Amino acid sequence: MPTPPEQSQDGPGLDADLAPEADHGASTYRGSGRLAGRKAIITGGDSGIGRAVAIAFAREGADLVLSYLPEEQEDAEAVAALVREAGRTVVLAPGDVADEAYSRSLVRTALDELGGLDTLAIVAGRQQFVEDIADLTSESFDQTFRTNVHALFWLVQEAVPHLPKGSSIITTSSIQAYQPAPILVDYATTKAAINTISKALAQQLAPKGIRVNVVAPGPIWTPLQTAGGQPPSALPEFGEQTPYGRAGQPAELAPAYVYLASQESGYVSGETLNVNGGMPTP
Ligand code: NAD
Ligand code: MG
Repeated sequence: MPTPPEQSQDGPGLDADLAPEADHGASTYRGSGRLAGRKAIITGGDSGIGRAVAIAFAREGADLVLSYLPEEQEDAEAVAALVREAGRTVVLAPGDVADEAYSRSLVRTALDELGGLDTLAIVAGRQQFVEDIADLTSESFDQTFRTNVHALFWLVQEAVPHLPKGSSIITTSSIQAYQPAPILVDYATTKAAINTISKALAQQLAPKGIRVNVVAPGPIWTPLQTAGGQPPSALPEFGEQTPYGRAGQPAELAPAYVYLASQESGYVSGETLNVNGGMPTP
């Protein structure tokens, strides 16, 4: 990838406005029926990592409900076109996951429109850097927790009664869970919480035949980073701190989600799969 210029976007940011463009695997990912007939909800499925997951899941044979914010309709429609090209069903369900009623409603949408639900890929996340704790408002702190942690709880609680044996829940943590940046106090803390809630739920849901696993990305080139996730001045060097010396691309995350969704990982639960350019983790 060429060195990204300094840039910033308002709101959740759009893949359509990211420079240079990110790679979501649209021209490279080949499916082999590993998720044939599966029915998945992907939150944050419009852009970045969630977009790469949507492309891969569809090419592996899954039908999808995509959750994203209404401002991201343009990105979501680009993903929907790729899912339909793969011959799969896609339902676009915009809304705010920090709103409990909306988060819960995604399960009903999947049951009604896909005829069932067996896979949750919880990828949506909020990351807003704040240099000084004096400037971290209660509203912002609360919104980060509601988006990253509460939404996961609501979605899983609503889904579990409907999930058949063999279902898979995949959550999204971060290298920030173990190496918190001083400017990401709230975000990093939610990512540690996601690891912990996932490991607790993995044990609780094992008797029901539901697996719960986590993907923990390192620095990945997505709109999150340009829409308040990092200071714009940090973007040209984004990812250089990793042993690989570069940021990852969303396409490099999708196979981890496919593995954890598919029966290939049928004896794996409570695991965190780190995809981070070689940074050591606990
Ligand atoms: P992204 O901006 O493409 O995706 C994040 C998505 O979250 C957005 O597209 C949006 O649809 C969704 N979202 C945010 N707030 C929402 C809300 N209130 N309601 C509904 N949807 C909402 O960026 P990404 O980097 O692909 O992020 C995906 C996940 O990966 C996030 O959980 C993020 O924390 C995690 N992650 C990213 C990186 C990275 O370097 N990009 C590193 C570690 C973890
Ligand atoms: Mg987006």
